[in-house]
Amino acid sequence: CGIVAYVGHREACPLVIKGLKRLEYRGYDSAGVALMNGHGLKVYKKKGKVVALEHELENKETHATIGMGHTRWATHGEPNDVNAHPHYSFHRKLAIIHNGIIENYAAIKQALLKKGHTFSSETDTEVLGQFIEDIWENNGDTLEEAVRLALQEVVGAYAIVIMSEADPTQLIAARKGSPLVIGVGENEFFLASDATPIVEYTKDVIYLNDYEIAVIKDGALKVVTLDNTTTTPYVHKVELEL
Ligand code: GLU
Repeated sequence: CGIVAYVGHREACPLVIKGLKRLEYRGYDSAGVALMNGHGLKVYKKKGKVVALEHELENKETHATIGMGHTRWATHGEPNDVNAHPHYSFHRKLAIIHNGIIENYAAIKQALLKKGHTFSSETDTEVLGQFIEDIWENNGDTLEEAVRLALQEVVGAYAIVIMSEADPTQLIAARKGSPLVIGVGENEFFLASDATPIVEYTKDVIYLNDYEIAVIKDGALKVVTLDNTTTTPYVHKVELEL
């Protein structure tokens, strides 16, 4: 139900947790984070409130300057630790968070099961993550291309953010039907479901449009449509009282 992600020079984990708390008003049943550092991509998630996730993070290696977090409002699969986001898939060490519903997930899941994929959760989100990974392994040169090709097949609503250990400095986000805002700072980027987690850091925001994919890498943002046309995003100045 809520998304926050960060890449830049700050500590990602406390920023993401603080952002998730700002989004708590949206309602949720579980929370999780994915953090990337020199030791790889780590995923921590927990049923319950963001404070339960914070307890889970105590004494854990959470140092990272790139990371993302999610609060879940369960639609596919009961609220529990396994169904909480991020969902991690092993082949390409990819983590995904998702707001919304992938309506044709059952058909995609059947096709992936036939190819030997296994799933640990009951969510539509894990299916999308493995679908992207499968395309990346078989038809796509890059994660960006795999995300684009996968989303061309998806029916439903989504705001997603993806990280992969195979490309550890990159954040990829996309949306259709569910909101996603990009905060543009100096050599840092923020992603969130609405501007409230972002405005204390930057007033420059981009509202990603439906069918757009944002690729943030090496301090630069690129936005492409699902048919691979590069667009020039409009940067708004937000004036928001907190
Ligand atoms: N459909 C996804 C799930 O049930 C995402 C729900 C949400 O928007 O939080 O896990």
